[in-house]
Amino acid sequence: MTDDFSRLTIGVLALQGAFIEHVQALERLGAQARQVRLPGELQSLDGLIIPGGESTTIGQLLEEFQLLEPLRRLIGSGLPIYGTCAGTILLARDIGGLSQPLLATMDLQVERNAFGRQLQSFETDLRIDSLGKAPFRAIFIRAPAIRSVGPGVEPLAWLEDGTIVAARQARLLVSCFHPELSGDDRFHRLFLAAVLEAQQEASAQVDRAS
Ligand code: GLN
Repeated sequence: MTDDFSRLTIGVLALQGAFIEHVQALERLGAQARQVRLPGELQSLDGLIIPGGESTTIGQLLEEFQLLEPLRRLIGSGLPIYGTCAGTILLARDIGGLSQPLLATMDLQVERNAFGRQLQSFETDLRIDSLGKAPFRAIFIRAPAIRSVGPGVEPLAWLEDGTIVAARQARLLVSCFHPELSGDDRFHRLFLAAVLEAQQEASAQVDRAS
């Protein structure tokens, strides 16, 4: 049986970067996508995607549009988030001491622009167990690398040299690459399945409490 995502409303942070492609991927999978630019647009979301782009710009705009605090609160209350590329940087607690506005909610140590000049952009096939047997074509664009993870973080994908390029921690999911550009929706499906699971857990808790 395939999951029914039609009742999920997923926000896509639309301040800068590759957000339209995420909206399209969500819609292909049957979910409702809402572009988020203002704090009010964060209301009643089931999940949120933070796209790739320029993390310094997105961070500054998060501050300017007064989204940093409400977003941190939502993450604290368990809203599922998927960050791609710059989204990974914005979620990481440690980006090597660089000073830029961050959400800083995930136990990752991330290095920005980690792949040398010639390799600033590249594509490669990754084996990602959580997505099944077929390799996933991963597109890296001036991508970060995850240099280390805290004990609560599960790495999901690695480059051949062992560099971690996707991970999850509770309801936070990140990838250093851009699944919205490869036309393979399995990563978005993984996120939406986690959102459904979070909803089921929340409603089981309400049942137990009543
Ligand atoms: N290099 C960008 C940064 O440091 C991230 C690139 C991307 O999101 N594709 O923010």
